[in-house]
Amino acid sequence: MPAADPQPEILPRAEHGISRTQIDENTLKVLYRLHRNGYLAYLVGGSVRDLLLGRTPKDFDVGTDATPAQVKKLFRNCFLVGRRFRLAHICFSRNDVIEVATFRRQPALEELPEDPAEHFLLVQNQFGTPREDAFRRDFTINAMFYNIADFSIIDHVGGLEDLAARRLRVIGDPLVRFQEDPVRMLRALEFEARLDFTLDEVASAGIRECAPLISEAAPARVREEVLELFRHAVAAKVLRSAQTAGLLDPLLGGYQADQATLDLLTQLDQRTTAGTKCEEGFALAALFLSSFLQKCPATGDLQIGDVLQTANRAIGTYSNYFRIAHGIRHQARELLLGCYRLGRGRGRRGERRFLQHPATPRSLELFMLWSRVTGGEPELVDSWRDALRNREEAPQSQPKPKTQRRPRRRRSGNRRPQPNT
Ligand code: ATP
Ligand code: MG
Repeated sequence: MPAADPQPEILPRAEHGISRTQIDENTLKVLYRLHRNGYLAYLVGGSVRDLLLGRTPKDFDVGTDATPAQVKKLFRNCFLVGRRFRLAHICFSRNDVIEVATFRRQPALEELPEDPAEHFLLVQNQFGTPREDAFRRDFTINAMFYNIADFSIIDHVGGLEDLAARRLRVIGDPLVRFQEDPVRMLRALEFEARLDFTLDEVASAGIRECAPLISEAAPARVREEVLELFRHAVAAKVLRSAQTAGLLDPLLGGYQADQATLDLLTQLDQRTTAGTKCEEGFALAALFLSSFLQKCPATGDLQIGDVLQTANRAIGTYSNYFRIAHGIRHQARELLLGCYRLGRGRGRRGERRFLQHPATPRSLELFMLWSRVTGGEPELVDSWRDALRNREEAPQSQPKPKTQRRPRRRRSGNRRPQPNT
């Protein structure tokens, strides 16, 4: 007879602080309905971690032993999504979708496809027991369950102990887990920074060893994880630790962050913490502003076309690799160009038009963060701010009739967006 699975640690309701009032109402509805119909229904992943830490979870994910088809039968508002692994989305409104996933397991070594790039997908595809589901997760603190049947916490992996010690520990052997899915290395640095936990020494050594593998991860997943750093205001910290661990270079295709960039990202993270959402175009411009301005110094006398081309080149490798959408690239380019113009000072040709340009206020925001880094010219920032305010307060002049001008011929083919010259 095979040995029975070891029992998980169970923390009864009386011994932890998670109350149902902290759980989103619709998530509770989903949990209860699954439970009433005889299925296991757990809150899983980051939400359990955050609730135990007294933080507000970003979202609530549900784990169950019901198959996606069984979940669909229970909820009229359920849609099955995902080509490879079917997930159930229970939609309460456009912005309120609860994700329900059937417990999955880690496949055995011999089941793994030869191509390591496909490992992650396969791992996503096998149904399993709750215990197996806990073990296929990345970190012990991300693998605890909250059981709606009795409001207890179920811990198969030692997450409670690590949480109390504020320790970030990879489940299993970090070298194996990082090879299986290199994105976990970036997630390790992200959670270390977000939660201010100590990353386990074995995991740190594992990152140093496996760092080059990150260049094999799917760009779309890496891009999403990089955006998480900006959303959670830990971009500066994580980029710095990634650089130290040798992860940054293979992560962003040879990208190196100089001290000024790291300082700018610190400013940007503070702005995010203070409540201003960081959009992707803004993050992209911040990543490349320092190197761009080195090539386009305010004192130089460059043609605006050349400046624009330099901005394009600055963000080009990153944008192509991550397939950044045209509109976002355009936004980042406008911001870089705007910072160049702002740095050149007041009274230049075309200032009025520049002040009217819709991208200029955001360029000034970036320029203001940059000037805090360089320690330069707070009066210049103030002066631009006044100019922008006056522009907003001044009544808009009527557009002149264009009768004197010869109508311009439209270029054939794709029209390029106009720079904010
Ligand atoms: P947050 O949503 O607050 O950023 P989270 O822990 O919920 O944090 P998600 O990216 O939403 O993170 O992932 C949900 C859960 O899925 C994680 O808690 C973890 O258990 C598991 N998970 C996510 N990514 C991986 C991965 N690459 N390998 C293994 N498990 C993962
Ligand atoms: Mg989450």
